Amino acid sequence: MTLNIGVIGTGAIGREHIRRCSQVLQHARVVALNDINRNNCEQVISELGLQAEIYDNAHDLIAAPEVQAILVTSWGPTHEEFVLAAIKAGKAVFCEKPLAVTAQGCMKIVEAEIAAGKKLVQVGFMRPYDSGYRALKAVIDGGTLGEPLMLHCAHRNPAVGDAYTTDMAITDTLIHELDVLRWLLNDDYVSAQVIYPRKTRHASSHLKDPQIVLLETAKGIRIDVEIFVNCAYGYDIQCEVVGESGIARLPEPMSVQTRHAAQLSTGILTDWKKRFIAAYDVELQDFINNVLSGNMTGPSAWDGYAAAVAADACVAAQNNGDIVPITMPPRPAFYC
Ligand code: NAP
Repeated sequence: MTLNIGVIGTGAIGREHIRRCSQVLQHARVVALNDINRNNCEQVISELGLQAEIYDNAHDLIAAPEVQAILVTSWGPTHEEFVLAAIKAGKAVFCEKPLAVTAQGCMKIVEAEIAAGKKLVQVGFMRPYDSGYRALKAVIDGGTLGEPLMLHCAHRNPAVGDAYTTDMAITDTLIHELDVLRWLLNDDYVSAQVIYPRKTRHASSHLKDPQIVLLETAKGIRIDVEIFVNCAYGYDIQCEVVGESGIARLPEPMSVQTRHAAQLSTGILTDWKKRFIAAYDVELQDFINNVLSGNMTGPSAWDGYAAAVAADACVAAQNNGDIVPITMPPRPAFYC
């Protein structure tokens, strides 16, 4: 069986996903493309030698009879509209983060999916598909560490452009931790605070960088996440779990160790795409398999909503310096 996919948004990640659907993954074929800029679609078709129809209107692509499932990889503020339209059409939809730019928008999607009576949505949170995070979760769930008490995390990028703003440290960067740490601990957040260390001279004048986000979970676990998006040296994701009886760390990505010129060294990645390349493959293959088998098990619309609720609180905490409560409504039975 092959799943016919339509892709809305053929920018950076859209192209990557089209390439993996066409060249790496099984049981999928990209049959339709849409982008606000038609040239982007034409370029992808010629670069990858695709046989795909170009639709000038995303809603026509969603309605097209040959399209069985949709990938939404357009600009974040467009996601809510396209995901709601896919649900209305009864088609499965993989939506890159954010599911919607507000928690309210995510809730609309949750309500529409529940009303449709069928899970149709997977959110593009790829870290739960990363082999390192999976190994770390297996250790936590295995109980050797005892109960987790504290987490020390870091999300560092070598540099960001001038368009990157202080709130994007939450909505674009921390959002991945907000999702994966909930999943890792099987817990929800109850409060957030943001503090600002001394600013790096590498950050643009309008950007506060680095930042430290302090989270507390319902079980009382304390989490600190350093976000440092102009760290200069590499793309570095760290996570250390301190438990009652021991400590576990996220494994480092594989890298050859060299001995040269009186130095022992291992490389550090600089490109986020390379750090999670395998996770993106596993994540999308999971979506394809789940759509074909009719059992959606990946990060859900509820997970998208939960991350958005926490992100809203973190942005408020950035602005007022207070400890901001995070209130999650009970998880609907539909998502249990
Ligand atoms: P991008 O390179 O700007 O690509 C977005 C594409 O969507 C562009 O081609 C853009 O056209 C097009 N577009 C904008 N509005 C549209 C509309 N109304 N209808 C159809 N197409 C439209 O951005 P990106 O880096 O690929 O990011 C896309 C999304 O993926 C973002 O939400 C981002 O947060 C997410 N993302 C997730 C990850 C992850 O790790 N999971 C990584 C990267 C990105 P123009 O260029 O002409 O505006």
